[in-house]
Amino acid sequence: MSINWFPGHMHKARKEIAKVIDEIDVIIEVLDARLPRSSENPLVESLRKGKPALKILNKSDLADPERTRDWLDYFNSLPDTRAIMLNYEQKKQIKQIPELCKQLAPSRVRAERPVRAMIMGIPNVGKSTLINALLGKRIAKVGNEPAVTKAQQRFKLNNGMALSDTPGILWPKIEDLDSGYRLAASGAIKDTAIEYEDVAMFAAGFLANDYPERLQERFKLKEVPEQPEALIDSIGRKRGCLRPGGVVDMHKASEILLNELRSGKLGVLSYETVAEWEEKDRLAALAAEEEARLAAEAEQQNEGKNS
Ligand code: GDP
Repeated sequence: MSINWFPGHMHKARKEIAKVIDEIDVIIEVLDARLPRSSENPLVESLRKGKPALKILNKSDLADPERTRDWLDYFNSLPDTRAIMLNYEQKKQIKQIPELCKQLAPSRVRAERPVRAMIMGIPNVGKSTLINALLGKRIAKVGNEPAVTKAQQRFKLNNGMALSDTPGILWPKIEDLDSGYRLAASGAIKDTAIEYEDVAMFAAGFLANDYPERLQERFKLKEVPEQPEALIDSIGRKRGCLRPGGVVDMHKASEILLNELRSGKLGVLSYETVAEWEEKDRLAALAAEEEARLAAEAEQQNEGKNS
């Protein structure tokens, strides 16, 4: 699978956000509730400089409620972090965001200054929709395609909060292959950047493992094949995607699976769990420790040679 995340854009985004970060009191990070860790960008952590963050698990209308609850507990246990779930229909909850930001920056409130907040996140998580809802007018771009960060940041007042009217757009950091596939399967990555059939294969494996009953119901399958390829083949047969000679057109069958997954026809679902990421984090910490140990050892050996 090839993923091109435009390193040039990323560099520009980092520079632009670094320029304005000192003016910001609270970071509002918008994540996709279906894949909260895969849709975050580790740059936010480094750019944040210890500032409090409100993490919004957005598009919660599409996510598995049980998994979302676990994710809220996870994020709420992090220092200087408050997490809420949200979707664009929840006007009342959206109205509470200025108050939550004020709670996260009490010194600004004591100083009787508006709390300055900026919305950040990867493309397509719903930043513009949220800004429009918060400011009560159509200011920022709303669309399906990832966009480039706009240079100008202006603050608009809303209920004791001064909100930057352009979002900080950061691309996800796809070091983790699963994250790349999850972003692609959910539709966050443009189709041109990915191998379509690979993504469908990933989606088939994920659904067979996490939500097999949905597949059975939607595609009227007697049983769900374990192998992703066999599953896509079955879906193709059920939907009549046959080439002459009775061979399944795998591209067409892949398209059906991904379209129906992305448009919610397989029901609400989440691509990742807290438990799985805790294990990933544990392994990453061990690997980092080992790397540091080896580096220290190499340095010692070097010093030995030089003395
Ligand atoms: P941005 O690139 O982060 O600014 O994302 P947009 O605000 O342009 O939204 C991307 C797409 O997601 C649009 O089609 C929105 O209508 C849709 N969207 C935004 N918020 C929600 C939500 O809470 N639920 C659902 N289902 N879709 C949403």
